[in-house]
Amino acid sequence: MENLRIVILGRQGSGKGTQCLRLGESYGVIHISTGDMLRAAVESQTELGQKAKAIMDAGDLVSDEIINAIVAQRIGMNDVSENGFILDGYPRTASQAQALEEELLVKGLKLDLAINLEVPVSEVTQRMLDRSRADDTEEAIRRRLEIYENETTPLLEWFEDRNNLVVVSGLGPEDEVFSRLKGVIDGITSEN
Ligand code: ADP
Repeated sequence: MENLRIVILGRQGSGKGTQCLRLGESYGVIHISTGDMLRAAVESQTELGQKAKAIMDAGDLVSDEIINAIVAQRIGMNDVSENGFILDGYPRTASQAQALEEELLVKGLKLDLAINLEVPVSEVTQRMLDRSRADDTEEAIRRRLEIYENETTPLLEWFEDRNNLVVVSGLGPEDEVFSRLKGVIDGITSEN
């Protein structure tokens, strides 16, 4: 089978990170999480990390320019060309979606699928308050969800226009959600 290249969209707290990790292992593709990459940069106090920290704490988005460069570089690495990827937390804005499309195009590649892991706002808010991550203050949560609706929701249409979008419910036990996601991915790979 050809390498899988997948994007997963979903509100903060949808369980996307956990599911992407499991999917990455299950299909042998590289899990690329922009949030994890940025948190690692903050942790090791790189120049990028120092710039990103305040932005992330406030729940704002790091600039498209910075994040596009980080992802382009990561996608260009050998492990990703050899195994494919599952993108988690990217793209989040129209400019990022465009940059990704162009980045893949110059490599002669295309996306197999964009999955929207759908969980309603009320449910994700509760989940985030329960997990109490350091950057999950109530104000930051509200702000991140607002930015998601404004910046990222329009991407659903972008992927739909390209016949790439599938919506999967993120409600219910983790294992059930995982099976649903696998069902969708296995469905598209068996078509090819
Ligand atoms: P969440 O989905 O809970 O926001 P992430 O781990 O995906 O968590 O991201 C954490 C933070 O990192 C975001 O709030 C944002 O500041 C920054 N970030 C991650 N991905 C992107 C992106 N694609 N564009 C801009 N900023 C990003």
